[in-house]
Amino acid sequence: MSESRLTRRSAEEARAWFEQVRASAEADGPVPAGSAAARWRQMSPDAREAAAVVFDEMMKERTMTSGERLLHAACPECDRWVGQAHREDCAIAPCLLTGLARRGCREFARAEPHDCGEAVWTGDWPGHPECREFGWYVRWDQAAGWVRCGPDEPGAGPDLSRLYEQARWDVDRQRWVQRRAVLFSRAGRGRAAVEEAARTLRRWCDTAGYAVVAEHTGPGGWSAAVADLVEGRADVIAVPSVERLGHGRQVFARITEVRKAGGTIVGPGVQLAGTSLLLSATLADSPAGGTAERRRG
Ligand SMILES: [Zn+2]
Ligand SMILES: [Zn+2]
Repeated sequence: MSESRLTRRSAEEARAWFEQVRASAEADGPVPAGSAAARWRQMSPDAREAAAVVFDEMMKERTMTSGERLLHAACPECDRWVGQAHREDCAIAPCLLTGLARRGCREFARAEPHDCGEAVWTGDWPGHPECREFGWYVRWDQAAGWVRCGPDEPGAGPDLSRLYEQARWDVDRQRWVQRRAVLFSRAGRGRAAVEEAARTLRRWCDTAGYAVVAEHTGPGGWSAAVADLVEGRADVIAVPSVERLGHGRQVFARITEVRKAGGTIVGPGVQLAGTSLLLSATLADSPAGGTAERRRG
């Protein structure tokens, strides 16, 4: 079956046209002979009702294009049109405060009681545009279950679980955004080792869903990284390892500094557990592959 392709505007116009025909036919004024409105007047109430249902069904099946993308004229769950508010109990409708399915706010008491707002059907599933933008796809594998994949692999679909886990809902912009990381590493022995650690860190950020916004190394790098955090250009500071965060007591001073700035430190093998500053140094700085833990207080 070939897919009907309409632009968003033409689908809305088709619907508006149908409403106009019906309204003018059912009003008392004159209508042009032979027009759709004139035909409508000739139809029995049963026929009119059937025609309206057929039209509705037909439009529902239509998809529309916006740029390169196919849009669905009506919400698959509650049948509301593009631009119309979802029905109260619609399972697809997102909460405007949390970005998650609205139904969950009530059923799981997800947050303090709040106003979930009136989300409208946009022609696309909530969260899917962001998954596409971030390149977060998933496909089903018989042996491995759901696995992350590229957009072009057979069966690839938007990875909503990853979106909910790794992205942040931006209430002001009413969309999911990637958390932003600024990379920091203090200078180390050997240029090659430092570069390899930086590559590993970038890969780690990619897997963990962070968008890397800047990289700072060596002297002055730390102040620059903290400034990025304080001035709102980044959400976290990512380091390749605890060793590369600082030496000795400096590690704790830097963690405290970042906490005060309202941020956090992340990275492979870096785990901040509550306020106990439990750290695990692994990877590049632990040739034996073991885990050295440090604890303060
Ligand atoms: Zn809906
Ligand atoms: Zn809500």
